[in-house]
Amino acid sequence: MTYVIEPPAQPFVSVAGETGVFPVRRIWCVGRNYADHAREMGADPTREPPFFFAKPGDAVTPGGLLPFPPETADLHHEIELVVAIGRAGRNVAVEAALDHVYGYAIGLDMTRRDLQAEAKKLARPWDLSKGFDQSCPISPIAPAARIGHPAKGRIEVSVNGKVQQTGDLSQMIWSVPEAIAFLSRFVALAPGDLLMTGTPAGVGSVKPGDTLHGTCEGVGEIEVSYGPAGQV
Ligand code: MN
Repeated sequence: MTYVIEPPAQPFVSVAGETGVFPVRRIWCVGRNYADHAREMGADPTREPPFFFAKPGDAVTPGGLLPFPPETADLHHEIELVVAIGRAGRNVAVEAALDHVYGYAIGLDMTRRDLQAEAKKLARPWDLSKGFDQSCPISPIAPAARIGHPAKGRIEVSVNGKVQQTGDLSQMIWSVPEAIAFLSRFVALAPGDLLMTGTPAGVGSVKPGDTLHGTCEGVGEIEVSYGPAGQV
């Protein structure tokens, strides 16, 4: 088979301690998975079924210096535990869900909150608020074979050295196995899929020139700096 145009590059995330990299297929994200964040977004944090949205696979970036995204006056940070799927599955049982996990990373679900708020108001899709270029900075993946499956641990992000979001993985409304099991009823999971597991309270604005530093206990850390506005 030949392609009529140059095939797109395979997006990937590096793996801590390995020379090989993790190829990215799809990026799924859980919405409002920490009660305090659900409350700050004006939602009821009762345990209603989880909901999901997606980012394109090529939204991943290792971070570092990034251009400030266009068409927003309210770029928000959402620090999240990222699950890297290593084994295919459909209708996965909660008890078996962790068998499908290759490893974990810390990531940022960057969000053009002004566009999202408008989309919510007009009952329109979230894609342009969530799935823009380089909207998914992700740290190197720590293989579960080495770190296990973290169900608790501090997760936080600071902006210019000041802590803005802090929480604990144990505060998730839907655990990692539950989220995997639920999602796999709706779509087939495949190696290369990433699952962002929701963000704790404290989301806030990022300005051109800001530096974000995210950490997740036992998993990893990520740093992102934004260049001046208007530089795509
Ligand atoms: Mn999020």
